[in-house]
Amino acid sequence: MDCQSLWKAARAVIPGGVNSPVRAFGAVGGTPVFAESGCGATFRDVDGKEYVDYVMSWGPLILGHAPQRVVDAVREACLKGTSFGMPTAGETRLAECIVDCVPSVEKVRMVNSGTEAAMSAIRLARGFTGRDLVVKFQGCYHGHVDGLLAAAGSGVATFAIPDTQGVPVSYTEKTVIAPYNDPRAVKRIFEKLGDQIACLIVEPIAGNMGVVPPAPGFLELLRDITRHYDSLLVFDEVISGFRVGLGGAQEYFGVTPDVTVLGKIIGGGLPAAAYGGRSDIMAVLAPEGGVYQAGTLSGNPLAVAAGLATVETLMDERPYAQLNAQAATLAAGMREAAQAAGVKVQQNRVGSMQTLFFTDTPVSDYVTAKTSDTDKYARFFHGMLAHGVYFAPSQFEAGFVSTAHTDADIRKTIAAANVVMKELV
Ligand SMILES: *Cc1c(COP(=O)(O)O)cnc(C)c1O
Repeated sequence: MDCQSLWKAARAVIPGGVNSPVRAFGAVGGTPVFAESGCGATFRDVDGKEYVDYVMSWGPLILGHAPQRVVDAVREACLKGTSFGMPTAGETRLAECIVDCVPSVEKVRMVNSGTEAAMSAIRLARGFTGRDLVVKFQGCYHGHVDGLLAAAGSGVATFAIPDTQGVPVSYTEKTVIAPYNDPRAVKRIFEKLGDQIACLIVEPIAGNMGVVPPAPGFLELLRDITRHYDSLLVFDEVISGFRVGLGGAQEYFGVTPDVTVLGKIIGGGLPAAAYGGRSDIMAVLAPEGGVYQAGTLSGNPLAVAAGLATVETLMDERPYAQLNAQAATLAAGMREAAQAAGVKVQQNRVGSMQTLFFTDTPVSDYVTAKTSDTDKYARFFHGMLAHGVYFAPSQFEAGFVSTAHTDADIRKTIAAANVVMKELV
């Protein structure tokens, strides 16, 4: 079946035709692309058309689609049984890799999704500190956790309100929202509420409003202020973990949080995520301590095999300089294509994660990200799609370069951008 008929069939039995909203192309219009198969940096849709992929399953596929080592590991694992509900050796090996690589992590617990990891990290922080409040940033996403699907209340240091139907007001009353990269707002919140704050959770490189790097000194401020008030600093590195380096953003910027949330890359394209931190904090988790958290499929052998094969490949090959160079070439080419066409853009990039914002305002937080011309982005997206290049179907997402992207893939993308940008003016 072709994309059109599959889309019609999907909408008949799946809400909105998709199992995660952004896949529905709501922000750009048109019919979603149904994937058939992937290989390296490219995938083929059900109509047989091939695309260079910069979504890469929204971050996990740092080695590209179907890398041999990951496929072999999963095949081998599934022949031995898909799940036991008992400890397996691979779980310890993956935990050892994470502990070796990620500076803040002394112990780590596996779960099945980034949402679950963030939710559990917050429960852990509340259990450890005996406090209730959580500070998060506007535009940062930590999965669809009830209390974090929250919008700012009427002023800084007031409690948040639900940002979706289906979340009771009482669930967001324990959340306080601050603007990203705004040290003064963070200070005001802690001055007023500091002794009630269990943790501050942040994407140390924001990726879910498009890529927004932390301003110089911002992460350091978060480190100092949480320490001063005996609150925990939680880095949500679901995207940045193993993406900007083996040690994630915490190594990249040299700021060590108390607790780290991981996902995406550590599952190697299968459902796996984790949260970890200092041993004394992790010790409050059941069965050692009194904070309950569990999972039938947590540490699943197939997911662990895929994650381990991915992480071990990254540890063996340390491809970050090459990834960075590839991403820099792409970024320069895209910027020049926009300039040549007279299209105003802001390019934000850290290593192999980047976003081209269609705005002339520098993007440093949610409000400035929202100055982007989303209609123009939609036209850019469809133009690139027609040329066989798949960027995210929304302006407010990160684009990813993988180790599988070749010079030819990057050249093809830049050539397409040179044509498409001229169509936008
Ligand atoms: C993707 C993401 C999550 C949620 O992970 P899921 O596996 O989709 O539940 C949480 N935090 C960040 C920063 C993410 O990018």
